[in-house]
Amino acid sequence: MKKLLPTSTVGSLPKPVWLAPPEKLWSPWNLESNKLHEGKQDALIVSLQEQQLAGIDIISDGEQTRQHFVTTFIEHLSGVDFENRRTVKIRNRYEASVPVVVDEIARKKSVFVNDAKFLRKQTNKPIKWALPGPMTMVDTLFDKHYKSREKLAWEFAKVLNKEAKELEEAGVDIIQFDEPAFNVFFEEVNDWGMAALERAIEGLKCETAVHICYGYGIKANNDWKKTLGSEWRQYEEIFPKIQKSNIDIVSLECHNSNVPFNLMELVRGKKIMVGAIDVANNTIETPQEVANTLRKALEFVDVENLYPCTNCGMAPLTRNVARGKLSALSAGAEIIRKEYKT
Ligand SMILES: [Zn+2]
Repeated sequence: MKKLLPTSTVGSLPKPVWLAPPEKLWSPWNLESNKLHEGKQDALIVSLQEQQLAGIDIISDGEQTRQHFVTTFIEHLSGVDFENRRTVKIRNRYEASVPVVVDEIARKKSVFVNDAKFLRKQTNKPIKWALPGPMTMVDTLFDKHYKSREKLAWEFAKVLNKEAKELEEAGVDIIQFDEPAFNVFFEEVNDWGMAALERAIEGLKCETAVHICYGYGIKANNDWKKTLGSEWRQYEEIFPKIQKSNIDIVSLECHNSNVPFNLMELVRGKKIMVGAIDVANNTIETPQEVANTLRKALEFVDVENLYPCTNCGMAPLTRNVARGKLSALSAGAEIIRKEYKT
């Protein structure tokens, strides 16, 4: 029988201090060339070990081999200048130094496939691999070439589809596309964002997920959340479109957020990765708190479709806090599993 409530993380986990300085985004590598390659692989093994020790069921790479969930992918494409970066405002919210699209983009070789093969060799558990979604990619760069967000998203979708097919071939069980931009640009999601995502998953036989959150626990995001009022209804704008799509799993933010749980009703039938761990503070949830969040979600999600998860990536947290939160997630899920067995 398949395990009830399989736990996973959204993707990123803190890196060991010898690989990159902790507690920040775009943290620079501490190693170079061959040492960096070896260091990334070692960090992947450490990350796997920490997830297994914590009892996580669906393993991710912890994003140990990438500096950032979007820009690292973009930097591997031709047609992109990542040396002469530009500063742009992303998600309408905060400034970031990003690569520049200067020509037609193309994926000359795979980006993460070797990393995925490496992880696949280390564990028999299901593995999930995160890729940036087309709309979020468009929103995390400066475009000097296409001059159309829609056109560029479509090109990214084609490139992502190739990468995803090779990841599937490498034995990845779930491919997840990170689309935090979906929570900001509703009109574009409905015009072309969802279509681009569907293009990215075209022909895949493995499971597919979309992760839509309110961002990493950094100050700009936390400030933004304070402006969203007592009910965050962003998901209401996009879930109907997702419900009609071929995406299998929806990953969303719940714990400590003002998202009304009943919005999950809009994607009834899909699998839901319910965020039961807050990544924006250092307080480690108790298993009971995790269980309470899952219990509330169960009013709107069938138990076989509930996948306990984190709200977002944990890259900006300390390793100790991240470890504690992983264990709390497992322990909280176990409380509910026991209730369903009796
Ligand atoms: Zn996220």
